[in-house]
Amino acid sequence: MIPFNIPCHIGEEEQAIAQVIANQKMSGNGEYGKKCVNWLEQQLHTKKALLTPSCTAALEMTALLIDIGEGDEVIMPSYTFVSTANAFALRGAKIVFVDVDSTTMNIDTDQVQEAITNQTKAIVVVHYAGVSCEMETIMTIAGLHDLWVIEDAAQGLMSRYHGQALGTIGHLGTFSFHETKNYSCGEGGALLINDESLIGRAEVIQEKGTDRSQFIRGEVDKYSWRDIGSSYLLSELNAAYLSVQLEHAEAINQDRLTTWQYYYEGLQYLAIRGDLTLPMIPKEVEHNAHLFYIKTKDKEGRQQLMDYLAEKGIMTVTHYVPLHNSQAGKKYGTFYGEDRYTTSGSDRLLRLPLYYGMSKRDVAYVVESIQQFYEK
Ligand SMILES: *Cc1c(COP(=O)(O)O)cnc(C)c1O
Repeated sequence: MIPFNIPCHIGEEEQAIAQVIANQKMSGNGEYGKKCVNWLEQQLHTKKALLTPSCTAALEMTALLIDIGEGDEVIMPSYTFVSTANAFALRGAKIVFVDVDSTTMNIDTDQVQEAITNQTKAIVVVHYAGVSCEMETIMTIAGLHDLWVIEDAAQGLMSRYHGQALGTIGHLGTFSFHETKNYSCGEGGALLINDESLIGRAEVIQEKGTDRSQFIRGEVDKYSWRDIGSSYLLSELNAAYLSVQLEHAEAINQDRLTTWQYYYEGLQYLAIRGDLTLPMIPKEVEHNAHLFYIKTKDKEGRQQLMDYLAEKGIMTVTHYVPLHNSQAGKKYGTFYGEDRYTTSGSDRLLRLPLYYGMSKRDVAYVVESIQQFYEK
């Protein structure tokens, strides 16, 4: 049996967690939390990072930080996880979904440009599969219209665009450390604050609307309620687990990339024959092998392949149901323009097993099984 995912585990996490218990300090922003924050700030080159309970929470913080309110419009792809939209719908924004590029499943920048109105306040990009969106174009459009750019880089830690880390290019960036992501701690996330003017308030929002972070640094002599906020801290137990994974980030990344490359090379001739489509990595992008997906010719072909692989003990998984087709998506958003690639891409996309430590034998077995399916 080859599962779709196995949560990343290095083997030193237990020791780190035991240390937290021994230290008798288990709440947020502790020693291990600081270790993770320092790693993020130094490795990715950003002004400020905060650990959050999830990427969902980090996205909610971004909506608070840029003061999203009733009537504001936020542009994003429909092909994304619900949290991308929820964070802004929660604050009363109207979600404006646009189509994706067929080769990357990332937001179509031409559609972004056209969807802008006087109500538009922000563009949220999603780096699907850890492959960067066209950030240069996005930042130019945002600059012209004075819009905020938020990177949902939930899948994008260790990926780069023109050498720059994903999550550090927009005004704000978010990561996920959910167990399905490359670096995990069960549930967890991070917010990167690349626009210096937002740092002070981000710390307040994270600490239930208080200036507790400033108080701990000795900058104020007592802390009090300053603004709206919530509890957006990651437990020290989770941070300890995460810190081990970040220390081994390079090795984890290499391991995943090796598996990704094996899939790519093994399936290439099927792509050339036209049986399936492989992912495309733009040349300015260094990706992190978050996902390996293929696209079948149609939805029926995908189901047949999934069933065939399941019989061989291989778990494969489809991905997002386009948000604009969902019940809440219809209530809180609208689709601007034509849905040329979102639904059709979603219907054909299939994710193959990929996790840290996946054996070469298992990858080869998946590749051979897919080859057999198309040969029969
Ligand atoms: C995983 C994911 C999220 C949510 O992350 P959580 O940490 O589970 O809240 C949000 N957006 C995208 C694109 C994701 O892949």
